[in-house]
Amino acid sequence: MNCLLCQQPFSQSLTLAELLHWQPLLTEKICSRCRQRLMPITTACPECGRTQKTSELCRDCQRWLEKQPRQQLHNHALFVYNELLQDFFKRYKSLGDYRLRDAFTTDCQRWLRQHPADLYVPIPTDATSYAKRGFNPVVGLYEDCVPLTFCLKKQPQKVKQAHKKRRARLRTPQLFYFAGEAAILNYKKILLLDDIYTTGRTMRHAQACLKIAAPDCQVHTFTLAR
Ligand SMILES: [Zn+2]
Ligand SMILES: [Zn+2]
Repeated sequence: MNCLLCQQPFSQSLTLAELLHWQPLLTEKICSRCRQRLMPITTACPECGRTQKTSELCRDCQRWLEKQPRQQLHNHALFVYNELLQDFFKRYKSLGDYRLRDAFTTDCQRWLRQHPADLYVPIPTDATSYAKRGFNPVVGLYEDCVPLTFCLKKQPQKVKQAHKKRRARLRTPQLFYFAGEAAILNYKKILLLDDIYTTGRTMRHAQACLKIAAPDCQVHTFTLAR
């Protein structure tokens, strides 16, 4: 088969652990040369998933959690958002090459199998990007890995300021709204899925949205890149 990233032919080599594993075999979609250019995150900030030498809170997260101690995300990211991944996301998201959705399925599947949650909620895309691309890139990355629950929707972008109450105007406007049965979330362990973690703003909005709908749910987050 050909590597999804560089198009060069390659064959999959299996580790003994994979051969002995009872679960269905994960099919590799990228060649070993491309894989060598990936930077897996092994030691990270437990809150945002940033790669670092120790597994203590990074300075940004320390500052954030001092202000918002109850808003913990526990983001886990698989790879550093380096040149290879920047190029991948450019082709996948900006140029809309839907075939690339499978490139990291094995990596995501492996981690998600080892860290099961009750519900997996993808970050929604807005209507304009969806119309332009024809797919939600987050759904593309994860739909073959885990069953997805589509209960978050993106707010229409221009909500008239005048129609909002003063307090709501002062806050950063919530990016999402909850569209589903709140009862399905109660007491559940939910994993929010996104493609890239940059500032954490998207994830925090999505988490807050779920927590308002069901205060007793537990929400952690997962991204391919950080
Ligand atoms: Zn390759
Ligand atoms: Zn951090």
